Amino acid sequence: MQAFSESLFADGESTAQPASKRRERTRKTRVAPEEVIRIFAEEYRVLRPRAPMPQIEVRFRTFVSLNTTIRLREGKIFASLSDLLEGAPESVLRAIAHILLAKLYRKPIDKTHNLRYKRFQYSEAVARQTEHIRSTRGAKRWLGPEGRYYHLNEVFDALNERFFHNLLGRPDLTWSEHYARRQLGHYDAAHNTIVISKVFDRPSSPRYAIEYLLYHEMLHLKHPVKVRGTRRCVHGAEFRAEEKLFPQLAEATAFLKRL
Ligand SMILES: [Zn+2]
Repeated sequence: MQAFSESLFADGESTAQPASKRRERTRKTRVAPEEVIRIFAEEYRVLRPRAPMPQIEVRFRTFVSLNTTIRLREGKIFASLSDLLEGAPESVLRAIAHILLAKLYRKPIDKTHNLRYKRFQYSEAVARQTEHIRSTRGAKRWLGPEGRYYHLNEVFDALNERFFHNLLGRPDLTWSEHYARRQLGHYDAAHNTIVISKVFDRPSSPRYAIEYLLYHEMLHLKHPVKVRGTRRCVHGAEFRAEEKLFPQLAEATAFLKRL
């Protein structure tokens, strides 16, 4: 499966922008103000009434997407929020704090919080701000997400809901310009864009094949490429384990092999 993925997805670095420049851009973070830490601490207390309070670090990160992440390291919680959430209403910050902490501790996600965050995510204001940031940060032009038969944004949103608690920021999605058969899908980090081969935009393509291609690229959003020494680890163990969670993996890979 790994060898198959490697050949299927061209996950090489985009040559459009040097890696050093990208790193510089993604590294721009700011420590969140005390009141945000307080919100996280309060939501932690709600979820885990008796557990000792860990140290919590929250940062806002400048990037074009709404990606949010959380991890636990040596007993300390690190949360990274998109700068689009900076200045969001307290109820929204509380919702995202709850969702991230519930995810971290494998607790059920409260429906009200979930709905509140989702509404914020899709609200017009955020869309406008995202659009503005995109245009000022110079995104590349593509064919766009709307194909003749499938709309990639719609497929992405459904997968985001089903597998990622809506926590992945939607990058630009586009059908490829040409009917590429070698490179079926890839994530262009420099432009924060997922490109899916136009080969799949036809009625004979099962939806699960497109879902699988997008799901794979979404895992790349979730698990950024790690550099170990001079080796870049593209599909790490966590990545591969999570890829196996896709219910129609076998059907999808069989379909892609027949192409
Ligand atoms: Zn890949």
